[in-house]
Amino acid sequence: MISREQSTKQTAYTDPEALAEVLAHVADLATETDTEGDFPEEAFQLLAQAGLLAVTLPGQPLDHTQGHTAQLLTLLKRVGSANLAVGRVYEGHINALLLAQLFGNPEQRQQWHADVRQHHLFSVWNTQADDGILIHELGGGRYELEGYKTFCSGANWVSRPLVTGELMRQGHKSGWQMCIIPTERIAPLEADARFWKPLGMRASASFKLNFTGIVLDESDLLGKPGNYFQQPYFSGGAIRFAAVQLGGAEALLEATRLMLRSMGRVDDVFQQMRLAEMACQIESGNLWLTQAGANNDAWLHDGTDPARIVAYANMTRTAIEAICLRVMHLCEKSVGARGLLRPLPFERIHRDLTMYLRQPAPDATLVDIGRWVGHQTTATHDLWT
Ligand SMILES: Cc1cc2nc3c(=O)[nH]c(=O)nc-3n(C[C@H](O)[C@H](O)[C@H](O)COP(=O)(O)OP(=O)(O)OC[C@H]3O[C@@H](n4cnc5c(N)ncnc54)[C@H](O)[C@@H]3O)c2cc1C
Repeated sequence: MISREQSTKQTAYTDPEALAEVLAHVADLATETDTEGDFPEEAFQLLAQAGLLAVTLPGQPLDHTQGHTAQLLTLLKRVGSANLAVGRVYEGHINALLLAQLFGNPEQRQQWHADVRQHHLFSVWNTQADDGILIHELGGGRYELEGYKTFCSGANWVSRPLVTGELMRQGHKSGWQMCIIPTERIAPLEADARFWKPLGMRASASFKLNFTGIVLDESDLLGKPGNYFQQPYFSGGAIRFAAVQLGGAEALLEATRLMLRSMGRVDDVFQQMRLAEMACQIESGNLWLTQAGANNDAWLHDGTDPARIVAYANMTRTAIEAICLRVMHLCEKSVGARGLLRPLPFERIHRDLTMYLRQPAPDATLVDIGRWVGHQTTATHDLWT
């Protein structure tokens, strides 16, 4: 849970100056937690106090039940631009709230919404290795967890982790089940210290955690087995991490412009060419996000085949990965070796973005797009209209 030093303001989201101020402060703090084992707690206090943890709750400016996906993606990009590690954890929080909204019953939703207003931080921890999670049914509405999750961003700073695992009923596999753990009811989760030695994203604190022995009630289980993989929500969510990633690339362009200006190098034609290409790349990313957000809302509303939504999300994710890689390369060439020295921000953002661009199954994602496009009988012009 993120501690409350001041009361929550209504929300900074609707006040552009207040939002810019909060995000500038988050960016200023980024170097302080760029260490393995650290977590940007102060940045999350700022987001909580600014009302941004609750911004997608019903009645709030980005109410999940009312669409607003393009605006949400822009917000995720801006948080990622301030600090990619904060963006990663914030995206997990938003994702968990969406899943709670989609699959929670009214009593659960009411409880979890109240928890968000109390500044509880949520997350989604699905990734695991060979020693992943089993959820054993004990009878009498009780369940016991066994096993580990890897890449648990936010680790013990998260007080409402959404954890997935194989539900075991009478010793038999019954499907992939979600649960949300109220961590005040359990001992701190034990971390495997050998796991988290990353290239970048240190401050995301994406530890390997042990859940063995945790006992939950029926009311802690979210939805039915298999709901987690329901499309288009499962793969379609890639547009959110793509938004955070684009924020990292945007921060690189911003820092490049500032550095070149400070050195009197913006009138050099080669630097201008690189700046031009970086600007085109970032704006292409913005257009992808805007269109992906608009399509997501319109297509969910009109009942479009989920596979089409997933295909568009997969294209968005793939395109933004390429954009980020290109921007990193252009940025390195523009600022040169001296730009890659601390305390300048380039090396941290470069490490963080390199790490965060590694998302699941990129090859299969591309193949899925090709398969979907190849099998459509509509004219190419009408694939996305
Ligand atoms: C900073 C950070 C924070 C994270 N936080 C979370 C979190 O909070 N919660 C969570 O659940 N997860 C989290 N993750 C995990 C993330 O969602 C992905 O699971 C992870 O990044 C995928 O890593 P990978 O590159 O090893 O993926 P892989 O999918 O293993 O891809 C690596 C390469 O192998 C290829 N490949 C994939 N499958 C196969 C196959 N069967 N055969 C051959 N080749 C294959 C891919 O195409 C790619 O080229 C986080 C990851 C990072 C980097």
